[in-house]
Amino acid sequence: MIKEFDTVILGGGPAGFAAGMYASRGAISTAIIDVNILGGQPSNYLELENYPGFSAIGGFELMEKFEEHADKFGVEKFPMQEIESIDLVSIPKIIKTTEAEFRAKTVIIATGAKPMKLNVPGELEYVGRGVSYCAVCDGAFYKDKVVAVVGGGNSAVEEAMYLTKFASKVYLIHRRNELRADKIVQERAFKNEKMEFVWDSVVREIKGENCVTTLLIENVKSAELSELSVDGVFPYIGILPNVDGFNGQLEQDSKGFIVTDETMKTSIDGVYAVGDVRVTPLRQVVTAASDGAIGAVYAVRYVESMEEVTV
Ligand code: NAP
Repeated sequence: MIKEFDTVILGGGPAGFAAGMYASRGAISTAIIDVNILGGQPSNYLELENYPGFSAIGGFELMEKFEEHADKFGVEKFPMQEIESIDLVSIPKIIKTTEAEFRAKTVIIATGAKPMKLNVPGELEYVGRGVSYCAVCDGAFYKDKVVAVVGGGNSAVEEAMYLTKFASKVYLIHRRNELRADKIVQERAFKNEKMEFVWDSVVREIKGENCVTTLLIENVKSAELSELSVDGVFPYIGILPNVDGFNGQLEQDSKGFIVTDETMKTSIDGVYAVGDVRVTPLRQVVTAASDGAIGAVYAVRYVESMEEVTV
């Protein structure tokens, strides 16, 4: 089955929904395709308190509002698609899934990012049995238990704080002696009595029997090894872009994030990248939404310019 659109947006998170709303409101036919359910990363955030206009709102609720807003202007949505191939260079651009072949004049990539792995022995073995990348999803399993979070950014500190609602103790293991997280987030964490900071340290191995029991920790200053007894570990050490299916087709940085200009245009004509998947100094819901708006406005202009040429 062939489906033709002026623009196909890959990814239904905040950047994709904002792009969808702007593109369809700009009167071009618009589809959003996602390999998962729609909503993106914020759907898993318990609460956001830095999206303008909402002093506090649940991540899932905010994404529902984004989706309703895109729906209002007629975006067609295709969640849970199994991608077979993506050709960004051809004219039209072609995205084949097991359900359909999508043809588009422009593509807006809004595929977001995924958690980085620690890449230590035991990590993959114990996923779902003590290793988790989603505190909101799995935190409740750790009532009165001891857990560790790895990392020092906003995600690590915020998720560690969230885990203190359940766990009796939360270690935060960070490779330096200073956090990267915003100061306001740090201050709250330092005041929380259930938090204990393990500075200048990295996890070398995750050990267990049926489930995780112990972390092998190295102090990077003294090279001393020690063991920490935990029931669970949540690595929050940063993100990598979701570029499966089109990796290498366009200009990317050393980690794979897509290089764009200020109009969100990538190195391929008619292809835009918005949100966490692109090289950007700030990855927030508000910046993802802003990127989506800019990318969609330029995608609309691109479609209009194609129509002028063919008339
Ligand atoms: P991040 O800001 O890149 O922080 C990653 C943390 O993990 C850093 O502290 C880093 O240490 C550490 N790290 C990196 N590689 C490591 C390794 N191999 N082993 C041990 N530690 C390692 O990532 P993030 O916290 O996931 O946040 C991603 C983006 O989303 C950021 O822009 C962040 O501001 C944003 N975000 C914002 C909010 C919010 O505003 N509410 C919430 C969540 C995320 P170093 O500090 O030494 O580099």
